[in-house]
Amino acid sequence: MGTLYVVSTPIGNLEDMSLRAIRVLKEVDLIAAEDTRRASILCGEYAISTKLTSYHSYNIGKRTPELVRMLSEGMNIALISDSGTPGISDPGSVLISECIKADVPVTAIPGPSAAITALTLSGRPTASFVFEGFLSSKPSRRRKHLEKLKDEERTVVLYESPHRLVKFLEDCRDILGERQIAVARELTKKFEEVKRGTPGELAAYFAENKPRGEFIIVF
Ligand code: SAM
Repeated sequence: MGTLYVVSTPIGNLEDMSLRAIRVLKEVDLIAAEDTRRASILCGEYAISTKLTSYHSYNIGKRTPELVRMLSEGMNIALISDSGTPGISDPGSVLISECIKADVPVTAIPGPSAAITALTLSGRPTASFVFEGFLSSKPSRRRKHLEKLKDEERTVVLYESPHRLVKFLEDCRDILGERQIAVARELTKKFEEVKRGTPGELAAYFAENKPRGEFIIVF
């Protein structure tokens, strides 16, 4: 029986790769990567020559049983996502749960995750928090979801795409009202920025300053 290694990779800055992650990616028989192009760049940076195979939301149905079979037959496989920790808002969680069902050993090489990095920098309370991933792209569903989160006492962390950011902040302004929130952008990258303020202030700021890059909201 092989082992599935769930390997966290940088969320922007390639220097955030751990020594153990590099060693494991060199030693395994195969790397299942959400984006093989990005994975090739990462592997090139660290002289990792292990074979890559794609594992993303479009081939998950076909690839999951294939990978579980290879693991059951003794192959050691590393799972990496686009960036950050596999399984957090990406297809990795499906392979992990199928391996657990098939009694394939699963272990993690921990490292960066955008959600935890944003929470850390947000200045919001961190003693208890809830991660909501991406809310629906449909405005009515998104607003309903925000209504449910309105009275949440724990800190909420969620992902949002740049082209929906202003609309989303306007929804926050209308539903959550005046409270301090944080918008984290391009964490660990050249244009890293954490803006803190009320939803209304941040909606106005990003209406003036076109949102570019990757975003996380914390409230
Ligand atoms: N598995 C990843 C993790 O552990 O961070 C998250 C994958 S999710 C598909 C991608 C989303 O994470 C982006 O749309 C963005 O909201 C957030 N994200 C990823 N990297 C980021 C960064 N460097 N700065 C801000 N947000 C980031």
